[in-house]
Order: sequence, then structure tokens, then C-alpha cells
Amino acid sequence: MPNNTFDASPFAARRTQLLQRMGQGIAIITTAPERLRNQDSHYPYRFDSHFYYLTGFTEPEAVLVLQAEPARAILFCRPRHPEREIWDGFRHGPEMAQSRFGFDAAYSIEELDQRLPELLANQSVMHYALGADMTWDRRILRWLNTVREQTRSGVRAPHRIQDIREPLSAMRRIKDETERMLMQHAADISCRAHRRAMLAARPGLSEYAIEAELLYEFRRHGAQAPAYTSIVAGGLNACTLHYVGNAAPLRDGDLLLIDAGCEFDGYAADITRTFPVNGLFSAPQRDVYACVLAAQAAALDRVRPGAGWNEPHDAAVRVLAQGMLDWGLLKGSLDGVIESGDYKQFYMHRTGHWLGLDVHDVGAYKQDNGDWCSLEAGMTLTVEPGCYIRPDDNIPTAFHGIGIRIEDDVCVTANGLDILTAAAPKSIDDIENLMREQQHAFAQ
Ligand code: MG
Ligand code: MG
Repeated sequence: MPNNTFDASPFAARRTQLLQRMGQGIAIITTAPERLRNQDSHYPYRFDSHFYYLTGFTEPEAVLVLQAEPARAILFCRPRHPEREIWDGFRHGPEMAQSRFGFDAAYSIEELDQRLPELLANQSVMHYALGADMTWDRRILRWLNTVREQTRSGVRAPHRIQDIREPLSAMRRIKDETERMLMQHAADISCRAHRRAMLAARPGLSEYAIEAELLYEFRRHGAQAPAYTSIVAGGLNACTLHYVGNAAPLRDGDLLLIDAGCEFDGYAADITRTFPVNGLFSAPQRDVYACVLAAQAAALDRVRPGAGWNEPHDAAVRVLAQGMLDWGLLKGSLDGVIESGDYKQFYMHRTGHWLGLDVHDVGAYKQDNGDWCSLEAGMTLTVEPGCYIRPDDNIPTAFHGIGIRIEDDVCVTANGLDILTAAAPKSIDDIENLMREQQHAFAQ
């Protein structure tokens, strides 16, 4: 049954804003299809982010139509079906969806082929994400042709197709009040999960046992799902950036890198913490960790309104590259190894990405003229420097297999930034102290 506390107003405000950006014509925004995993089993359903951003509607088989003149929001959704609902659960049906979600009209999804050509008739522009889904593309082109067939009776068909993702992505890059609240909540739950993982970890457990602790904490606080497959990487596995096997034993003396965040009401958190399996950093681990932490501090310092997108990255790279020179991983001058890109042997990814309904959220990073975008209040992004040292004959053995990333989620504010994930322990002292608590607990 529906959640009675649902507030439709932020979604309606976004629709109004999108209509203003569209100016004229009609927009068609479809939600994601259900996807089969194997035989009769489906993947857990996840709506399309653009569609959800404008509707709050989470059922599959739904389409939003926005008409600019007169301004109207129309939902197509699954009709009520008492028998199917016994098997698959509650459906709003058009009538209830219209009133709860604040649409001007709602119809059964079964009426789509009949009503869409009528709605497209005499519209000059169709706003649609052409190419995102071939099945929808074919169906929409059929509707367009149906309208074109009526030209002799005086009906005009849209003569321009505009990509709806452009204005939507621009809007989604700046988070509104509701989104910031939800993102903080997703971050809070995810911070608890990282603390729990630190308290649970010890030599002899497996990576999957720690993954289970994360999932337990996500779910028991109401997060619907992990925002992405959790990375639980002990020792050298941390040097595989997208390691998701999560099946190796945790070894005494190794580090454990965890990159995990939950999704709450559609919004993602994305946190990485790296800590010693046995609760105490060794000297080389401590050196590299302190350097990655300093790189992150330098990057965070550059996150403020007006800063270029690349400034945090450049600041992080300078600190990391200096560390690589100090440890004897690289030779040459600081400017030299930055210019040549030699540091990329140990730091091969960028320092962050937009974060929101999608973990790698939509929105441009560069302006039309090729310059990096500037940060603005309301933008949310990750700041995640790292250092990954694979064993190699040219590298001092003390550093072999050290993989460290530290990732926080931040929101740009009017004066600087707000760190959404500050509750996940990060300093060497905080981590070692917390893990000592665990050892006391086990000793008793
Ligand atoms: Mg991450
Ligand atoms: Mg990330």
C-alpha cells in the first residue's frame, strides 16, 4: 500500500521548472523496464532516475507526458488489476496516481498507442531521449508517423526532436532541499555501515562476511538497496579498482578497502574507507594512508562555489605525486611526474564525480567552450583520491599490495562545502581507537 506521508510538491516544482526550460512542445519521459535475471526471476526493480525525479512514481510500465501549452502533466501507468495484485502487489492505477502524485490527468498504460498520437498532433517540438532505449524509439517513431499520416486533414506533426536529457541533467546537477535531505539520510546510513564494518573486521573472516555487515546495516535502516555493488577488498584486491568478488579471506597485516553506499528513496551515497584488518596500521601503510588523507584534505579545500571542476583533482594529484617521489616509487621532479602523467601508475582515476539519483550522476563536467564547469551551491560530488601499489621489482617491497582510497560525499554550499559523510571514521587515530573498542568487546 502507498506510503501516506508522500509529498508530491517537490516533484511538481521540478515539472514546472522543466516546462519553463522546454518553452514549447511536448515531452515524453519513460521509466525503466523490468529486467529478467534468469528464467522467471527478475532483478530487483529500479525506476529510471529522470522519470522518478519528475514524478516520485516507482512502479514499472509508466510514462510521463509534459505538455507546455497549456501546461499539463499526464501520467500513463498500469491499471488496477485485482488478480495480478495478488501475485505482484499493489498498483496505484491511474485514478489514485493522479490524486496522490498531483498529475493533471492519468490514463492506463494500455491507452498509450491511442492517446500519444493525439497528444503529439500540432506540437512543434517533441522532447525525448532518442537513442536511450531502442524499443521506445521504435514505438515513438510509429506515433510520429501516425501523426504525419494525418497531414492532409490539416494536422501538423512535430518537426523537431530535442534531447530531454539536456535540460533534465542540468537541473539534476543542482540538488533542491528535498534531495539534500535524502542524500544526507543515505549518507548517514552508509556511515553507520562503514563503522559496523570496522567493528566487525578481523583476520580470518572473509570479505563476504564484511559485505553482509554492510548490507545488514543498509537494510535495517530502511535503505532499499546498495547504490552499487559493494567493493570489499582485502590486501592486494584493493588494487583492482572495481573488485567485486568479495570472497577472499582477510589476512592479518593487510588493509581492507571498502567502497560501499546505500540508496535511500532513489538517492545514492558513495563512501570509501580503508583500514587495517587487525586494527593497527603498519609504518608503510600509515605513510601512504596519511598521504592519501592529506591529498583528500587538499582536494576538499578546493571545493567551493566558483572553483573549477578540476581544481580538487589537481590539488590531490600534487600531494599524491609528492608522496610517490618520497617513497621512491617515482623518480624526477614533482612538476615533471605530474606533467608526464607518471603518477597515474599509482593513481589512475579522477578525484570525484557528481552524485545524486545515480551514483555517477548526470550533468556536464565541461562547458560548451571546453573549459571545466565551475562548482555552484547545491552541487553534490564525491572527493576520492587513492593510491594503489601493485607488487613490482622496481618498488620497495614494504609498499607492495597497499591499496588505499578515501572517499567522501560533499555538497557545495554558499560559502564552501558540507561533508555529508563526516560520520564515517577517517583519521588514523579515529580508526585505530574504534577498532580497539572492538578488540575489547571480543576480549570480554
Ligand atoms: Mg565509491
Ligand atoms: Mg565514487
